[in-house]
Amino acid sequence: MSNKIQAIRGMNDLLPDQSPAWQYLEHQLRALVARYDYREIRTPIVEQTGLFARSIGEATDVVEKEMYTFDDRNGESLTLRPENTAAVVRAAMEHGLLHNQTQRLWYMGPMFRYERPQKGRYRQFHQIGIEAYGMTGPDIDAEIILLSARLWRQLGMSEYVTLELNSLGSPEARARYREALVAYFEAHREVLDEDSQRRLTSNPLRILDSKNPDMAEMLAGAPQLFDHLDDESREHFEQLKATLDAAGIGYRLNPRLVRGLDYYSRTVFEWTTTALGSQGTVCGGGRYDGLVEQLGGKAVPAVGFAIGLERLMLLLETLELIPDEAMGGVDAYLLAMGDGAERQALLLGERLRDTLPALRLQVHCGGGSFKSQIRRADRSGARVALILGEDEIAHGRLTLKPLRDDGEQQTLDQDAAIAWLAERIVGEA
Ligand code: ATP
Ligand code: MG
Repeated sequence: MSNKIQAIRGMNDLLPDQSPAWQYLEHQLRALVARYDYREIRTPIVEQTGLFARSIGEATDVVEKEMYTFDDRNGESLTLRPENTAAVVRAAMEHGLLHNQTQRLWYMGPMFRYERPQKGRYRQFHQIGIEAYGMTGPDIDAEIILLSARLWRQLGMSEYVTLELNSLGSPEARARYREALVAYFEAHREVLDEDSQRRLTSNPLRILDSKNPDMAEMLAGAPQLFDHLDDESREHFEQLKATLDAAGIGYRLNPRLVRGLDYYSRTVFEWTTTALGSQGTVCGGGRYDGLVEQLGGKAVPAVGFAIGLERLMLLLETLELIPDEAMGGVDAYLLAMGDGAERQALLLGERLRDTLPALRLQVHCGGGSFKSQIRRADRSGARVALILGEDEIAHGRLTLKPLRDDGEQQTLDQDAAIAWLAERIVGEA
């Protein structure tokens, strides 16, 4: 076994061949949230452990077994953020952003969960999240769903995702439902698997989420949350559905959608796809009116979602939805031969970049034969090689050698060469 140091399991390097696709996606996301006037918030990737334990819920998978928690040198327990809503609430309270005002916020960045790595599931992964604070009505729930639906349209993938929708009701309604559910599960104890037995006391709603086929029949007969909703939550949900109907956004009601984190109330939703195998949830969100108060603030209603960017990227790649233009590449490769040619090439390179800001240019560095330089030019993917030899330097000229089509090689005055590049390569005559 080699003892080379390698990346941590489940944490991926993003290599230069892949980064243009990520930049494309990130650009699409930033442009979208700006159109809805959501504003970015950046928080540290490390927080006090108590923040997540108190917000996500002690009995959730995330807090029970997925957090990267460690003591710092001072003996304080810290955790790499497994999600970012708790941190956004923490920061918003700390800086007074929630006092008598509404906020539309977004964040993007890495999250950390100690899970079994597999396709679409990693230990460091990335999310973009939207959070809207200070608004109770179903209109804002609808807005964030409309925003997500627009993203799928913008990326060309609407037909591959489905919206699943549910309402968890008020905390009181949820507590009543919980009682009914526990009674039902207790009557069917013999069918419950080990995980579910454990959750029976800690988090019975999560049992509904089980994918164990042996429990499917029993779960199908379980009492439904919808039958226990309080009137206000029912009305809220009806209004939300009516807006989605009016906007032409299709959805599937899923009474067993409860989401993994404790802090949700009323609206919950997920966008799922069948194109990725079992890691099919691309986006998950809902309303969390109780969270700010739970973290020690004055009650502020809130609603939001998070999108898993690795899953979204897998989907875009699988469906071949990343446009070729987004994959970047260089337009021109400048090579130089002869005495002092390297410096002349660098200077000419700067002049070209001054005059043609849209030009993507690589200047050859490191010398070498003409043959090896032209081979590098070809491998760079550039459309044209720019050749600066002794003759060209002496007469202020430049040779243009098209590499991708049959255009003629020609030697021009440098001004004429720049005009040619402007017209033929960067398209801004
Ligand atoms: P799952 O049921 O797949 O574990 P979750 O309910 O734990 O998802 P959330 O906490 O709601 O996920 O996070 C929102 C989104 O972040 C998910 O829908 C998914 O796209 C993505 N996500 C969550 N965990 C991971 C992970 N370990 N690796 C990659 N993406 C993830
Ligand atoms: Mg999970």
